[in-house]
Amino acid sequence: MANPCFAMLVLTAVATTCWSQTPPAPPAITLSHPQPFPGVACTPDELARLRAAWHGTGLEHAAVARRISEARSALQREVVFPPEGGHHNQWYQCESCQLALETVDARQHRCPKCKRIYTGFPYDNVVYSRTHSRLTRDLSSCAWAYALTGDEKYGRRAREILTGYAERYAKYPYHSANMGKITDQPSRTGGHVFEQTLTEANWVLDVCEAYDLVREARTLSAEDHRAIREDLLLKVSENIAKHKAGKSNWQTYHNAAFMMIGGVLNRADLVRQAIADPENGFYYQMQASVLPGGMWYENSWGYHFYTLGAVEKMVETGRRLGIDLYAAPQVKAMFTAALDYRMSDGTLPRFGDATTTRIPGGRYEAAHHRWREPAFLALLPEGPTWESVLYGRTEKPLQGPGELRSVLHAAAGHAILRAGTATAAFTFGPFGGFHGHFDKLSFVYFADGRELGYDPGRARSQAYRLPVHKNWYRATISHNTVVVDGASQTGTEGQPDLFISTPDLSAAAAHVDRAYPGVLHRRLLVLRPGFLVVADVLTSTDGKPHTFDWLYHNRGEAITCSAATEQAAAPEGQGFEYVNDLRRGTSDEPIQATVAMDAGRVNVLVNGEMGTGALVGTGVGESVLDRVPLLVATRRGQGARFAAAIDPIIQGQADEVERVEIQPHQTSGYVIHVRLRNDAEELFAFDPTRSRRTVAGLETRSMLVCLRREAQQPARVLAEATD
Ligand SMILES: [Zn+2]
Ligand SMILES: [Zn+2]
Repeated sequence: MANPCFAMLVLTAVATTCWSQTPPAPPAITLSHPQPFPGVACTPDELARLRAAWHGTGLEHAAVARRISEARSALQREVVFPPEGGHHNQWYQCESCQLALETVDARQHRCPKCKRIYTGFPYDNVVYSRTHSRLTRDLSSCAWAYALTGDEKYGRRAREILTGYAERYAKYPYHSANMGKITDQPSRTGGHVFEQTLTEANWVLDVCEAYDLVREARTLSAEDHRAIREDLLLKVSENIAKHKAGKSNWQTYHNAAFMMIGGVLNRADLVRQAIADPENGFYYQMQASVLPGGMWYENSWGYHFYTLGAVEKMVETGRRLGIDLYAAPQVKAMFTAALDYRMSDGTLPRFGDATTTRIPGGRYEAAHHRWREPAFLALLPEGPTWESVLYGRTEKPLQGPGELRSVLHAAAGHAILRAGTATAAFTFGPFGGFHGHFDKLSFVYFADGRELGYDPGRARSQAYRLPVHKNWYRATISHNTVVVDGASQTGTEGQPDLFISTPDLSAAAAHVDRAYPGVLHRRLLVLRPGFLVVADVLTSTDGKPHTFDWLYHNRGEAITCSAATEQAAAPEGQGFEYVNDLRRGTSDEPIQATVAMDAGRVNVLVNGEMGTGALVGTGVGESVLDRVPLLVATRRGQGARFAAAIDPIIQGQADEVERVEIQPHQTSGYVIHVRLRNDAEELFAFDPTRSRRTVAGLETRSMLVCLRREAQQPARVLAEATD
């Protein structure tokens, strides 16, 4: 990444940890003989704490008793294995309506809209997936119940499921996620019980844990042990090993599977493969796939925490086997990374293929056990929980989320802006690959505890194979940025130019010159407690005219705009076919759109310019039925400038912003005037070349100066990016 110019007044934090330091030498990988019991599910001490809680009384007893009662209900069910392996949820969709199917019964899967019934492969197999998961949960609860109570009836049920899978694993037809028909050619990424090595690896973690807990049970014969080891665990391991995924969350799960299988079978070779394989192992993964600052490279909090689940299995299994993998600095950084990203409603930005995600507090027990960080303790449930008993935690979590700061994560390519109770997250960083979106220079915005500026992430139904995924969720149109010539960006990264933070103003600027060939896009965001300023300068570097669609999506009930009142067809361009409730118009005046919300509204004000196209409508949210208001302001030419203010208003309050204007200065410099209702004005003067200029009587060479002027008073500086 080029060296950005970090001119700033107050730089609260720049996370630029570099992994180029020499990684810690891989620990010696040897396993204890004889193998301790338990080996991978928990340590003997952890099991003793769980058993003591079960034999005790009060809340600790209640926390572990839930699992025993799950095991009791499992015994009420018959063990019925599906006739085949499970399939990916991406097939469980109606192709014409692009909606998730509903399960009528095991053979009938219905579209909620057109009511068409789908049956057979692969739809039935999606339901088999759920049955396999149910059986695995029953296996897990029975194995734990056996370990805690010693009651053979639970051991027998665990044995029945384990040997049942051993008998079937190789017999279940091999299939892979790309197969919509049985006749499609499977790829090497497939499996037997599930359609992906990823899913089988995830599944086998629970299988290993269960086998570990019952492996000393009298009910298991020598032949049972042979079958579970050779026909199940080693076969799964071989199936996974044929697919080397390298830099991928798949490989993280593959490694966790090798670690657990190696651990429970006391096979040091498999444990070594998990940790030290030079192109796939744990150490390679941590170096290659974790960005400085700790975010998983796919640029999605959904995938970050999904992957962290496997990393946690890996390092915790290591700890139980006496191998310290926590020393790799990326492990702690992965736990810490999301803390800065909490938006004002407690969720994390839905960057990339993510659904609404919060930091999974229950998952921080191991991290707290290892590091005793107050920030981790604050995330934990009060307890007692199963995990708090297992780890022996007695401390109660602290109140509140701790300090939330504005921060630039330069390597991950995010700026988190805070002012008052408002938060915005700005994204410009490295392209996330398969799960990344074409979303450079886009942002999300939260204020008054509500989500406003909206990024849909991915469809809740995982519609990866449907056009709506490619042409809406992943495409540039669903993001709060500028679409050029009706097409999506290319997968690239932008560069940060500026970051400043004070208690009541924070700002960030970045640019991208490879998202569209021949176009340089610079964006500045300034967050004030009451509104957000968004400024864009787009410059044609190929001398050709382009069409620039400035987009803003805001959660709400409806959107109105006096400049866009004519019913019209959707414009040409990728994803515009998903815009409904469309109204269009043209205006030479400033544009104001209003989004009606539950308790209040949001005004979106864009500076005026001759012949600006205005479009309001609704785009796609969690599914094509979930509609989210949007505004598009369109300008054409060899360049374009946009200055906008987004002004949320709680019911009963008055508007704050009256009008936004932009005065150009030099090629890409400008002054934005935000005129406020109370006879005040705020000025934001930006110039990436830092040329000498006078703003409201103040001479400056700073990249950004923010000023406020009340009535006839002289202007005062709110913040300035000092050199
Ligand atoms: Zn349908
Ligand atoms: Zn996105």
